[in-house]
Amino acid sequence: MLRRPFWLISLALIAAACPARAQERLNVVASFSILGDFVKNVGGDRADVTTLVRPDGDVHVYTPAPADAKKVADAKLLVINGLGLEGWLPRLLQASGGKALILVATKGIAPLKIGSDADPHAWQSVANAKIYVTNIRDALSAADPADAEVFRANAQAYLTQLDALDREVREAVARIAPARRKVISTHDAFGYFAAAYGIEFIAPLGVSTESEASARDIAGIITQIKTAKIPAVFLENITDPRLMQRIASETGARVGGTLYSDSLTGEKGGAPTYIDMVRHNIKTLTSALAD
Ligand SMILES: [Zn+2]
Repeated sequence: MLRRPFWLISLALIAAACPARAQERLNVVASFSILGDFVKNVGGDRADVTTLVRPDGDVHVYTPAPADAKKVADAKLLVINGLGLEGWLPRLLQASGGKALILVATKGIAPLKIGSDADPHAWQSVANAKIYVTNIRDALSAADPADAEVFRANAQAYLTQLDALDREVREAVARIAPARRKVISTHDAFGYFAAAYGIEFIAPLGVSTESEASARDIAGIITQIKTAKIPAVFLENITDPRLMQRIASETGARVGGTLYSDSLTGEKGGAPTYIDMVRHNIKTLTSALAD
């Protein structure tokens, strides 16, 4: 009878206990939570994903911590939004000295312009989110070809969910009376949502939260709310609620709730994932704008 030598059995046991592939998980850093969620959906258990700007954080005005340079230095792939969103990134890259590949996840998306600036909030249209996801799929596959098939299958499953989400948003907007499809949000984060789904957004702050609204901006918004009979104003999870509360009290528009614009929430919040975020926003909008 053929007996297997002892060492062969023990090697087999070691291999079963700690599969070699576990050590090959792709190390990916995403600049902010929404991108982090896209990468987790595509990477599944074949990627370790770290996010720099934490949930409920404001990516426009982020100040990288020293630990972030280490995270970027250790990463094989860094996923960013681009379109001017991460103004703090060049200094961080310099500090990290890392050699990570960089994916600009908005690659291939035609940016909306506000004045001469690109509007960075492209993820607010679900059709654009699908472009982010295919870019991420391709970048993960290039960085880790051995797992390309897993990334392809994960991306395909997630893209199917995003198609359903896009239909859900269109059906929800269709139920709002056309004359009431107008809202005020704190900063100009919903341009892509507005263009894709036909709800008009007006904001006292521009596409970034970096500057404060002037007294003239606020007076202009107040006049606009009154003349256009805008039914509701919305808060955002990343900005100070006091400005919008003041605008609401001076116009009689009601505060329709909080919209998630540039950041997911923690696990226990209303938007721990991108799909949760879009669903929350559309539910908040439809209930505030119902006749
Ligand atoms: Zn923003």
